Amino acid sequence: MNVSPDWKLSANLTVATFTHSNKAIANGIDNSMPDAYLEFATDWATNIYEPLLPLLGVSVHIDSGYRDPKLNQLVKGVSTSQHCNGQAGDCVPAMNILKAFKVIVSSGLAWDQCIFEGSWIHLSYLAGKNRHEILKHNADGSYTHLTKDQALALEN
Ligand SMILES: [Zn+2]
Repeated sequence: MNVSPDWKLSANLTVATFTHSNKAIANGIDNSMPDAYLEFATDWATNIYEPLLPLLGVSVHIDSGYRDPKLNQLVKGVSTSQHCNGQAGDCVPAMNILKAFKVIVSSGLAWDQCIFEGSWIHLSYLAGKNRHEILKHNADGSYTHLTKDQALALEN
């Protein structure tokens, strides 16, 4: 069974928003989320999305949340992508992305991976298993692990 798009994962996040994908629509992919991932998605909404709003003080667009494996393949996501389990979301706050990244890195927010992707911030959440990793996506497609101090020293 798929979760209804009207279902609220948290006060400010519906399944419709978490699963919306223009790419999926354009390519005829059904990006409905199986209910097996509802708990992960709820954890993400509760522990990442909701605290992010007051932390940044701006609206936060989700560019990509849950991804059907077919959609993930299309966007060339890694096959183990946490997006496919409803454990990750690509966040686009209505402010400078690097500044938002630094605010998040400095916060007490719990995350598994926080990745500066240039035009969005990938944030994942794994209840009880968060690694609290900070990474940066490089132009060549690779990722660099950063310490908190390295992240705060990043420049545009
Ligand atoms: Zn992502």
